[in-house]
Amino acid sequence: MNIEMLHLEQGPIRPPSESRSLLLRLTRNCPWNQCLFCPVYKDRKFSRRPVAEILQDIQAARDMVDDIQALSRRLGSGGAVDNRVVSHIAGNSKYGRSYRSIAVWLYYGTSACFLQDADNLVLPTDDLVTALTFLKEKFPEITRITTYARSRSVARKSPDALARIRTAGLNRVHMGLETGCDPLLKFMKKGTTSAIHVEAGQKLIDAGMEVSEYVMPGLGGQGMWREHAIETARTLNQINPHFIRLRSLQIPERTALHQKRLSGDFVMQHDDQVVEEIRLFIEMLDGITSMVASDHIMNLLENVSGKLPEDKPAMLEAIDAYQRLSDTERLIYRVGRRGSAFRSVDDFLTDTQTRQKLTSMIEKIQTSEGLDGVERFISNMTETYL
Ligand code: SF4
Repeated sequence: MNIEMLHLEQGPIRPPSESRSLLLRLTRNCPWNQCLFCPVYKDRKFSRRPVAEILQDIQAARDMVDDIQALSRRLGSGGAVDNRVVSHIAGNSKYGRSYRSIAVWLYYGTSACFLQDADNLVLPTDDLVTALTFLKEKFPEITRITTYARSRSVARKSPDALARIRTAGLNRVHMGLETGCDPLLKFMKKGTTSAIHVEAGQKLIDAGMEVSEYVMPGLGGQGMWREHAIETARTLNQINPHFIRLRSLQIPERTALHQKRLSGDFVMQHDDQVVEEIRLFIEMLDGITSMVASDHIMNLLENVSGKLPEDKPAMLEAIDAYQRLSDTERLIYRVGRRGSAFRSVDDFLTDTQTRQKLTSMIEKIQTSEGLDGVERFISNMTETYL
């Protein structure tokens, strides 16, 4: 066997928190694929990978890990995957992409595995259990196995099925909740309801899994932002997930929502309005103990994060600090944030050098193109992340 040529099939995305996890693909693309705001799996057909193929990938990953550890011993690193081993692999063209990504996974030592793609709970329970059992058998060192799932697919599983899946090794599920507002879920063609979100979240928790719910600030647009904030908080208050993750709306041209925006059926909020919406949302979270994370590059304020309920005042203060800035300061902050210079208002206040550079850059744009020119500049920078 030519080990360097072994290959693992991989899907296009994983959550930011899984950037250092082993990626293993169980299904291809999304079985729903209709959400108006979603650009990810457009024009790609959903399929379940045959179990035999998944097991083959797991075995290939194991073979690569064994080979990398043997290489480490030959190089004098005693089996550890350190800079020397990673540099050796990166500098040698005989090693393929999968081999390199496994080396990086070992280097970070996260002991975590993320199962791709969009909804693995749509798989028959027996298939999922077979794959998880084989994965745990081949990788007893893996301590965290996570996946994306749609709430409708989870809600369809019986408590017994979810308990079997948990026992086989799945310990965290990332759910794209987006909103708890039913009219908005319908408008966005999310194919689920607030009640189904609640049922799914509660079932996963009852089965002993961690639940990570993604919320999309901005999704209500100017027409439904208030209901979006209130109903989403109300839904999450019934679930009490382990994690609430914010991932603000952006609208790439290839989405159906872009067409709605062009036709005027959807009016996007300004950044400052989204901040106000997030403030209302955080205020309405009540009686839960979730961790709130704002770990997505699309979010304006990364430090709206912490553990509920104790960090709620600090999260609100992070928002208030932004709202206390003058119009000009907020503009500078937004340009800096979209250029990855700031993560919070604290960064903005302490980094005077960057602030000055941005101020003169904005003045130049404003002189030639006016305020609209600066807003265009911010949009263009944001689009580079899409
Ligand atoms: S369910 Fe998720 S992956 Fe599928 S279309 Fe909706 S947002 Fe995209």
